Amino acid sequence: MSRDIEKIISEMTLEEKASLCSGLDFWHTKGVERLGIPQIMVSDGPHGLRKQAEEADHLGLNRSVKSTCFPSGATLACSWDRNLLKTVGIALGMECQAENVSIILGPAANIKRSPLCGRNFEYFSEDPYLSSEMAASHINGVQSQGIGTSLKHFAVNNQEHRRLSVDAILDERTLREIYLASFEEAVKQAQPWTVMCGYNKVNGDYCSQNEYLLRSILKDEWGHTGFVVSDWGAVDERVEGLRAGLELEMPSSNGVNDKKIVKAVQDGSLCESVLDEAVERLLQVVFKAVDHKKEGAVYDEAAHHELARTVARECMVLLKNDDNILPLKRDSHVAIIGAFAKTPRYQGGGSSHINPTQVDTIFDGLQQIGVNTANISYAQGFSLTSDDIDENLFKEAQLAASKADVAVIFAGLPDSYESEGYDRTHMRMPENQTQLIEAISKIQSNVIVVLSNGSPIEMPWTENVGGVLEGYLAGQASGLALADLLYGQVSPCGKIAETFPKKLSDNPSYLNFPGEGDIVSYKEGLFVGYRYYDTKEIEPLFPFGHGLSYTTFEYTDITFDKQTMLDSDTLTVNVTLGNTGKISAKEIIQLYVKDLESSVIRPTKELRAFEKVTLTPGEETTIAFTLTKRAFAYYNTQLGDWHVESGDFEILIGASSQDIRLQKTIKIESTTSLKKVYTRNSTLGDVMLHPKGKKAAQDLITLMVSDKHNSPDSLGTDMTIMFKDFVLRSMVNFTGGLFSDEMMETLLKELNNC
Ligand code: BGC
Repeated sequence: MSRDIEKIISEMTLEEKASLCSGLDFWHTKGVERLGIPQIMVSDGPHGLRKQAEEADHLGLNRSVKSTCFPSGATLACSWDRNLLKTVGIALGMECQAENVSIILGPAANIKRSPLCGRNFEYFSEDPYLSSEMAASHINGVQSQGIGTSLKHFAVNNQEHRRLSVDAILDERTLREIYLASFEEAVKQAQPWTVMCGYNKVNGDYCSQNEYLLRSILKDEWGHTGFVVSDWGAVDERVEGLRAGLELEMPSSNGVNDKKIVKAVQDGSLCESVLDEAVERLLQVVFKAVDHKKEGAVYDEAAHHELARTVARECMVLLKNDDNILPLKRDSHVAIIGAFAKTPRYQGGGSSHINPTQVDTIFDGLQQIGVNTANISYAQGFSLTSDDIDENLFKEAQLAASKADVAVIFAGLPDSYESEGYDRTHMRMPENQTQLIEAISKIQSNVIVVLSNGSPIEMPWTENVGGVLEGYLAGQASGLALADLLYGQVSPCGKIAETFPKKLSDNPSYLNFPGEGDIVSYKEGLFVGYRYYDTKEIEPLFPFGHGLSYTTFEYTDITFDKQTMLDSDTLTVNVTLGNTGKISAKEIIQLYVKDLESSVIRPTKELRAFEKVTLTPGEETTIAFTLTKRAFAYYNTQLGDWHVESGDFEILIGASSQDIRLQKTIKIESTTSLKKVYTRNSTLGDVMLHPKGKKAAQDLITLMVSDKHNSPDSLGTDMTIMFKDFVLRSMVNFTGGLFSDEMMETLLKELNNC
């Protein structure tokens, strides 16, 4: 329905306009009845609908209506499957329509800076490109159903510790290339109806009143057309927030902040046009929600549960599979060990906590795929409420394992280990589980560990077990998906979207996480995740992008559509992939770019494209990737823009970040020249790089090294190299007047072209 929003705003009183800038209660926006402005409902998010019909809270304490709990963000990203994320989004949108919720609060696209962040299970990846692509697909799916999303938590919200007071300090390149890039494409490609600002400060200003983030970058540069909503309770100074571009405060401020807005307009400290623009953005979304409402919408719970199963098995990652210990044979006697087998851990704690429509265990899964229960035994092995070893449970598990052909241990992190609101303090599993795995692997040579956790853990026992299947937090049907994968109904096809380091201290943020008091300095800069491990040559336990399959793939042939290009051109890279194994399966093929020579510090390689493809045995296909300028660029702070330096770049095609199968070099010429300004303090080395300065600098160095006091022989040093770092003005003294002040000024004019 078309409405004249401008006219509606012109008919609103100042008080009515201000009132729209904060919520009615915990989950609703305000309406204005006399003007036909309705209230709408928002709810969490991200991987299921947490609609609270009765008592409200933002920490997942009170009950919510039943809905499908899909795999969490960390799990979904391991699918590397844009279509799958879109499908999940569509299902979420349908459930929102059925529950009369207009906006679902997600996806969450913060970067996993440290494995310890309590909300890592909600976040997609340590890599901004993968994260942003996943977020965009999720948003596209939800919004295709006429339901809005809230891309969160914008920005640099990478820890729970002191989350409402911490100030993340980071340099501009790191901000742009890592932390903002994780949101950027999702905003540009998918236009989330809303963006939720983080609780924290970034470089001194709260996100909720950070004009640089909300106005300059999000709205002006990226062109976000929706509105910004505060995280629940993130507002510091309401008027400053409004000025900076925060349209909606949630939850309700009980009228307190509405009054401040009215007062600011009345005393002239806030332009009414700023308020009008905010109201316009709010109304656009509110009316869009109303117009897209599907009255009487319903969804099929059973179908969504089945979808949750399919999605979960597309995400789980086979980390290790020595001697093809998996898939299990149906006639093997299998001892299922571990409390998680009967009490699955399939989601994390806090505001994303879903009240599932149903939960299936591995035993339900085994029954569904017809595994003979006579071949299965079970022992609990450990308690989920204490980390201490329970001798009886331990012995019972050892006995079960010793009698079986293979032991499958269901281990991981208990609920209390991972939640919104606090970070982990270490990366270990509970001691009773670690010890149990060690003990079982001493008496049973066929051990498989199935993990349920939202973030990497240390695995001191990896060498002693044959298989590791990382189930992450895979939603309410995780038990069914695990049965499917363990018995080879389908092949695993997920790959980890984050590095699993061997130990916490290997992680680049280790020395600066979670910071000092209210300051956390991102001193590792750009070197987050594999960007660090690969550049620093630190061997991880499992590298970014790693994941095994029950089949094998062969990568052959890499071709380009051109051998040289301008940075304004696009490059098409073709790669041939074949399934050389015996079953149909999916492979995630990854493209990384390496700048072979750069004047700025860059990670050794960066993910710039990926594709997931299905291949039947013997089938071969060609995959085409298109790369644009951004794939080769770094953020140049002098230009305030993305910049590609002329030179050679290597395109690396891999099955993981460390399993590079093909590579080829492309020569790129930059179309932007960076103007360098020469001064008295420019080095001779820099002057030498200028075509007009080369000879002058060389002459000065020759003059210096031929001087008897500076002869190369007298010091045994290569004076030519040493003099490259001397500055021009010092030559005036050192040459005893042979190079005069005037000569320096003339040279500088020539170099600076004036
Ligand atoms: C969380 C958000 C959530 C909101 C509403 C906050 O505590 O940080 O992610 O959407 O509560 O529950």
